[in-house]
Amino acid sequence: MMGYVPASTCGDAIASSTTSASDQYKTSTTTGRAMPARTTPVGTRRTGSSAGYDCDVLIVGGGIVGLSTAYAITRAAPGTRVLVLEKEHGPARHQTGRNSGVIHSGIYYRPGSLKARFAVQGAAEMVEFCAEHGIAHDVTGKLIVATEREELPRLHALIQRGRQHGIPVSELGPSQIAEHEPHVRGLAAIHVGTTGVCDFGAVAGKLARLAKDGGALVRYGTEVTAVDRRPGAGVAVEVAVAPQAGASSQAAAGRTPARTSVVRARAMVNCAGLHCDRVAQLTGDVPPARIIPFRGEYFELDSAREELVRGLVYPVPDPAFPFLGVHLTRGIEGGVHIGPNAVPALALEGYDWRTVRPRELAAVLAHPGTWRVARRHWRYGAGELRRSLSKRAFTKAVQRLLPEVTEDDLVPAPAGVRAQAVLHDGTLVDDFLITEGQHAVHVLNAPSPAATASLPIGREVAGRALEALRATAR
Ligand SMILES: Cc1cc2nc3c(=O)[nH]c(=O)nc-3n(C[C@H](O)[C@H](O)[C@H](O)COP(=O)(O)OP(=O)(O)OC[C@H]3O[C@@H](n4cnc5c(N)ncnc54)[C@H](O)[C@@H]3O)c2cc1C
Repeated sequence: MMGYVPASTCGDAIASSTTSASDQYKTSTTTGRAMPARTTPVGTRRTGSSAGYDCDVLIVGGGIVGLSTAYAITRAAPGTRVLVLEKEHGPARHQTGRNSGVIHSGIYYRPGSLKARFAVQGAAEMVEFCAEHGIAHDVTGKLIVATEREELPRLHALIQRGRQHGIPVSELGPSQIAEHEPHVRGLAAIHVGTTGVCDFGAVAGKLARLAKDGGALVRYGTEVTAVDRRPGAGVAVEVAVAPQAGASSQAAAGRTPARTSVVRARAMVNCAGLHCDRVAQLTGDVPPARIIPFRGEYFELDSAREELVRGLVYPVPDPAFPFLGVHLTRGIEGGVHIGPNAVPALALEGYDWRTVRPRELAAVLAHPGTWRVARRHWRYGAGELRRSLSKRAFTKAVQRLLPEVTEDDLVPAPAGVRAQAVLHDGTLVDDFLITEGQHAVHVLNAPSPAATASLPIGREVAGRALEALRATAR
């Protein structure tokens, strides 16, 4: 028997089922994956509007975007049964917990883009959210510093853009740069008033608690492994439930197999970050872009040299690669982070060169966009690789902004991996990308500044998910 779970126990399906998948799954004709051989089709046990379903909206991914979406649904439509499934044993274990912690002002983004709208609005909301919930944050402002003449026109264009967005910017000459940052050198700079820092991991944790207070269930250690979509009815999702972290030495050694279960939902939201394209494919939808994982490596300033940097210092971004360019960030906990660079990761969660997952790597290499990016941008790539493999080269890049820094001042710090969506023709998707399939909403590109923008993004995704619910009910 497949583990059918009454609708009233939304999410308890995951906690209770001990069913083995092997004898109960057949191949789906839509996705070619092992799928539940359903004893009761989704939605047939209806006695009320939600009978037959374990929940209304199932959200895949407990990063800041998934949790913000859950929170937004519980606020916009109280009573909607929301279930968040996260494969790790806690929230924010990937991009959300491994970033620069900067509340971006939104100054870089093209007017009219989702990034511009959600970042400008999201930055203000993030500051309010942190203040309201006692999460450490600071609106420090930041300097964007031109160190070469050829960067000056781009710096001036940024001033115009900032003003278009209503962001407070002021122009600085070399002596004014020194007033803000005595050890930083540049030809000219702008000061952006609304940039800040916070702990996005803590924000995600708070969003999870608020969503739970609003009636949502958040299950950790549960990975979505297959999806069976029934047009007009909803989705049945196969879930692998990992043994509790630290539950037993056997489990810790990976000898206890994951249990599987099936959860039925009227609509599904895919906020799976680095895995979002794969999860979209599980539903049978064809994502217009694939994720290429780019690792961002950091150093931190040795504590004895932290006085070299007071706040946030950025180079003028290259419009082709706005996320490139090593910057200096005094984080909310006081230390100074330097980085990140951007090198191809050899696994979706490849936080160092030793982590290689051949199957994930093969999928990335099979994407035609990967080769086109490589051909088009190999020069940049080579520079980033050099700075990854040579601390001396990395230090040299930092010295452009901070001439006094030496190799000995830099201490390696944990890396993050960016989920960058890339089209088949090799174009890096610049804007946030949210698409819809039947009974499904997919967040397919949520790179920086998506943590800053997570509150408005969550509302946007929630609105689309509620619309998908209404479509199922019709
Ligand atoms: C190096 C770096 C620096 C950055 N700096 C900043 C910054 O300063 N400011 C800023 O605003 N943004 C920054 N960003 C971007 C920001 O971190 C991300 O945009 C944001 O965290 C994306 O959140 P997310 O929820 O989409 O993804 P994630 O945080 O990656 O969450 C996705 C979750 O889905 C889970 N998942 C995946 N597949 C499954 C599955 N099958 N079943 C269940 N769960 C699954 C994963 O375990 C993960 O927890 C940075 C990113 C990086 C990598």
